[in-house]
Amino acid sequence: MNKAPDVFNALDAMHPNAWTELTFTTPYELLVATILSAQCTDARVNQVTPALFKKYPNARKLADADQATLEGMIQSTGFFRAKTKSLLGMATAVVDDHGGEIPSDMDALVALPGVGRKTANVVRGHAFRLPGFPVDRHVLRVATRIGFLRGQATEDAVAAEKALTKLLPPERWTVASDTLILHGRRICKPKPLCDRCAIRPHCAYYRLHGPGRVSR
Ligand code: SF4
Repeated sequence: MNKAPDVFNALDAMHPNAWTELTFTTPYELLVATILSAQCTDARVNQVTPALFKKYPNARKLADADQATLEGMIQSTGFFRAKTKSLLGMATAVVDDHGGEIPSDMDALVALPGVGRKTANVVRGHAFRLPGFPVDRHVLRVATRIGFLRGQATEDAVAAEKALTKLLPPERWTVASDTLILHGRRICKPKPLCDRCAIRPHCAYYRLHGPGRVSR
């Protein structure tokens, strides 16, 4: 039996209104913010993006940005040289190949410089409201502990996405990902706070390792 809907319902109740914490108003803004969020907190990205979006409000403006100026504006997000390269490459490709509009198609998104499958799913799910299940390290850790992922899928984001998207209807994918991410940040941390977790009865890790572990 697929227990996933029940587990996600319980997780939804623990983390109501789960959604990306990145601030954005357009697909372009979310794509830029998501590129900046690599190895950086969403809060830090949200401090940087208001000035960035004011100076470069669309891909055309960003494609013409001065590299040193852009580096200075995003420096505090870390890895700023690589991120600047990604932003300039992405914006140039969006202008050259898509008339300046961010594409919503998965293949077109991942063909953009600096855009991987996780970033593409973030943009598809939140900005375009299309089915997308972003998989990051929190999703991998939490879904593995619960028992949703096995073998290669515990380490490989693409395999994990394939497995997780089989558990829920497409309209639940994006919020399910956001919920797993919040659960991983708040409760199912690397050292999990199982005593505060409502899905203990469903969790494979807890059955094996929890203090009141269930013997079978
Ligand atoms: S019971 Fe513990 S290991 Fe399982 S999902 Fe909850 S916090 Fe994570």
